Amino acid sequence: MTYAEELRQHFRFVDALDICVIAGLIYAGLVWFKHTASRNVIIGVTVLAALYFLARTLDMYLTSLVFHTAFAVLLVLLVVLFQEEIRRAFERIAAWGTLQELRPQTTALCDEVDAIVEASFKLAAEKTGALIVLKGQEPLQRHIDGGIRLSGYITKPILYSIFDPSSAGHDGAIIIDRDRIERFGAHLPISKNHREIRGRGTRHSAALGISELSDALTIVVSEERGVVSIAERARLVEVRNAADLKDHVERFLDKQFPRELDATWKRFAAHDMAWKLLALVLATISWFVLAFNVEIVQTSVIVPIEYRNVPQHAQKDGAFPTEALVILSGSERAFRLLDRRVLKISLDLSAMGEGEDSITIVPEHVRLPADVKVDRIQPSEIRVQ
Ligand code: ATP
Ligand code: MG
Repeated sequence: MTYAEELRQHFRFVDALDICVIAGLIYAGLVWFKHTASRNVIIGVTVLAALYFLARTLDMYLTSLVFHTAFAVLLVLLVVLFQEEIRRAFERIAAWGTLQELRPQTTALCDEVDAIVEASFKLAAEKTGALIVLKGQEPLQRHIDGGIRLSGYITKPILYSIFDPSSAGHDGAIIIDRDRIERFGAHLPISKNHREIRGRGTRHSAALGISELSDALTIVVSEERGVVSIAERARLVEVRNAADLKDHVERFLDKQFPRELDATWKRFAAHDMAWKLLALVLATISWFVLAFNVEIVQTSVIVPIEYRNVPQHAQKDGAFPTEALVILSGSERAFRLLDRRVLKISLDLSAMGEGEDSITIVPEHVRLPADVKVDRIQPSEIRVQ
């Protein structure tokens, strides 16, 4: 049989699912790598892992031993290093759980977006500082300190009032969740990424800080320079005009809270195409290397025999055999997935006639997954009186 034929025969629906799940995980890893600030740590860990596998393949005894001994410590170290990322990953999964991403937004937030954009540029023109956080899907509570709860609709007068330098609550950030200002005067975590902050002050570091820890989009209005910037996904960029800002905010809201379900899927398919393909290719290669093996393996297993509906006065020719030797064949992968303890031959004696009769054990009597075949069974026949 050619390789292609083998593949066609042995490739199951579950295998496609298997590849998709792994591709999803690889894609999540790639996206994480692309956006994380701890990229250097990941590279360090990868180098260590490569070194370990090299040591294993070349049988470098001492190196392998050291790695083995240090493995538990390394694991704890990794958890500590990536504590924040791991937490975020679980928060994201929880967000999927509530199907937030798939629940279409009922109303467009046009007026709200206009109010935010206009207010930002008016405040900038007046050189009044402002910090506006638009919440994404990840929860923000644990990153934010203090502030005063508001839960009010987004309007220009409210925004001006909050950021008015003579008002008590103008310091700090406002937190917006969809169409509401949830909180004002809130303290955000400060970023330490000085390369991205580029000499700007604490307001800008705070905007960058929250964008490193969550999927929120933050608008910063500088009081010193009268410019508007956006912090998103650990990046801080200046926006030139109101149209640009509007475009940014609309795209953000559309992505976080899509209005049509259909659009969600379309965007999901189109977004990050190259990375998704890469993930799929990597997953497929891994599957072929690790899971798919066309070599057929033959093995023998002792399988218990179970008798059902035994007639009351049935006598066996000799003792009832309690087990049989079964010769099985299938791919190596099939055997790896096969739990030998659950194998069983089940014989139904209800159809036995009076007098001497026999029952032949056929492959159908052995309960097996479809990709493992029975070659032979010993004994193949049981005689009953
Ligand atoms: P600007 O260009 O407006 O001067 P900046 O980046 O230089 O901004 P600062 O001059 O240090 O920042 O601005 C200080 C103001 O930034 C504070 O009065 C406060 O309103 C706000 N701010 C500073 N740190 C935080 C924080 N951690 N969370 C929220 N707001 C903050
Ligand atoms: Mg300043």
